[in-house]
Amino acid sequence: MEIFNAPTGTGKSVLVRVMAAWFAVEDRRIAIVLPDIKACLAMTWNVREDLAHLHRIGVIKQKRTCAHLMSSSGMHDRALKLASLIKESVDAPGEWGERAERDVDPLAYGCAQRTFLESTGDYPPGREPCLSLYRQGVGSAACPWIPTCGKFTPVYEAASANVVIMNHYAFMKSNLKIGVNLDGRPYAA
Ligand code: SF4
Repeated sequence: MEIFNAPTGTGKSVLVRVMAAWFAVEDRRIAIVLPDIKACLAMTWNVREDLAHLHRIGVIKQKRTCAHLMSSSGMHDRALKLASLIKESVDAPGEWGERAERDVDPLAYGCAQRTFLESTGDYPPGREPCLSLYRQGVGSAACPWIPTCGKFTPVYEAASANVVIMNHYAFMKSNLKIGVNLDGRPYAA
């Protein structure tokens, strides 16, 4: 693994996009670490557009992907926080509306388990019991919807993406919450 670092104002963002495209064209993998979620959302959008353009004009024959890797815990809180920053009128979209897809969309998900839960406690949005269920006759169990639930989509997308984008905190301290298979060996991540 190589780590690339550069000071502010030297054209990092453009260079990083070029590097991301080059890695994708060469079918290699790269991880890009940015300061915060907002920067990650913007970079993910831009890199995805770059890759789609390269695919359209035939530079990339097979589709390459870019994933925004973030921890599943706290996604709901981050969605609310980002939504609270949107002050613009829906009729005059500015910073947040310049893209067809709103930046908060990738942070939003719904819990399919809620309908089937028999619980004495309350599980508010963002505190779902994804890994702390109990099934009669089985014992502790994880939610069967984890592989398809939007809450874990970033983890699954990142597993196969050519370009993985994450923030500093996720890079330094976060974990995936689910087990992964590294070179054929199961690993608790
Ligand atoms: S993984 Fe299961 S419990 Fe967790 S949010 Fe998704 S559907 Fe709900």
